[in-house]
Amino acid sequence: MLLHIGMDDTDSLAGGCTTYIAALLVEKILSLGGRFVEYPHLLRLNPNVPWKTRGNGAICLRVEIDPEIEGRVKRTVLELVEAHSDFECGNTNPGVVFHTGEVPKSLIGFSDRVISSIVELEEALCLADEHGASAVGYKNMRGIIGALAAVGGLQGGDHTFEFLAYRTPGNCGGPRSLDSDSVRRMNKATEGSTFNNVDPESGRVLIAPRGPDPVFFGIRGETPEAVHRAAMLVEPGEPIERWVIFRSNQGTDAHLRRRVRLSELEPYHPAIVLGEVSESPRTIKGGHVIFPLGDETGEVDCAAYEPTGGFRDAVRRLMPGDTVRVYGGVRDSRGGRRTLNLEKMEVLRLAPDVRYVNPSCPSCGGGMESMGREKGLRCRRCGLRDGQLRKLTVEVDRPLEPGLYIPPPKAQRHLTKPLARYGREKEYVPGELYEPWCWPRL
Ligand SMILES: [Zn+2]
Repeated sequence: MLLHIGMDDTDSLAGGCTTYIAALLVEKILSLGGRFVEYPHLLRLNPNVPWKTRGNGAICLRVEIDPEIEGRVKRTVLELVEAHSDFECGNTNPGVVFHTGEVPKSLIGFSDRVISSIVELEEALCLADEHGASAVGYKNMRGIIGALAAVGGLQGGDHTFEFLAYRTPGNCGGPRSLDSDSVRRMNKATEGSTFNNVDPESGRVLIAPRGPDPVFFGIRGETPEAVHRAAMLVEPGEPIERWVIFRSNQGTDAHLRRRVRLSELEPYHPAIVLGEVSESPRTIKGGHVIFPLGDETGEVDCAAYEPTGGFRDAVRRLMPGDTVRVYGGVRDSRGGRRTLNLEKMEVLRLAPDVRYVNPSCPSCGGGMESMGREKGLRCRRCGLRDGQLRKLTVEVDRPLEPGLYIPPPKAQRHLTKPLARYGREKEYVPGELYEPWCWPRL
């Protein structure tokens, strides 16, 4: 029988990680005689939900098992989730979903909506019932939403892979020991087949997180072979307890699907909007850059926050009248006015930058000045006065090109498709990518 095991929301800011539970489970299920029909899935969900713990990532394991061991496998899953979830954290509400057989279309649609919008627990519970899936929730049970979404997230379209290496329990909590130069060499050697290893703006190594969670490092890329090869080029300064390769929607823009008008923006929903810059961008306290964008239905404040680094330079060069398509999440609405956090921006049409300048004196070539509105110009050098002379209009070159602008990797969300991935989008061919690369070799 084919068993899908979805899990979500076991981690917290204080530690723990749903992918680590998955890594432990891979080994346990293999030892029970289960056979994986797919890479373990790491499905990132809507990054704008207000109650997410960290990356908002859910897991699904898809295994072929003998019906005799179904009970043992399920018990093992629940035992591991209970042993490794952070039940103390108020924001941690684990959920597990078991589904057998083919994944129905309605679950796939549900999954797409959890990635790009807000879905209620009630709907997840009804859907699970309808399809005979069993859902186990802890505390407020919100994790069931993500767990069910993970089961439905077949990722038939664009996808990526991530090699995740874990630390030994004794090392968790301390600083990670990783040779940065080896990461930079790996980044060069695997260019095009991996992404977001190093931030090009700051030179910062991005593969290692900073928190107390058990993840040592993660390398993202286009194929399992590529991320595995890259990981072998990295020189760790501490033991790797285990590793797993996940198939994922990271780096695919899976959340940015809805093109809406400004009046249709909803809090916590990612959206794509086309509009016109209505006022010059201004830099506010903290270095954040804000500008209002309008269309025929309304207006929204677009924000490029300080961590987006050089991306703000492009935003600052916008002018009223520019046509842009913006991508991002609506986080809240202060005083009835919504703010869209910019994840990317496409500059489509630049308004002409027209300025008025005084001509030079027709007699001596000196500088002229205005004698007042509609009163002509006077030469500052020879004193020539001409009541008919007017300022000239000059169009100044814009220091901004039409095109796509994306914040540097260090400021990107897990789901954001980085520039390096444009043109590398791919479909998933079932069965084709099945290689036993994902099994930990200790
Ligand atoms: Zn003059």
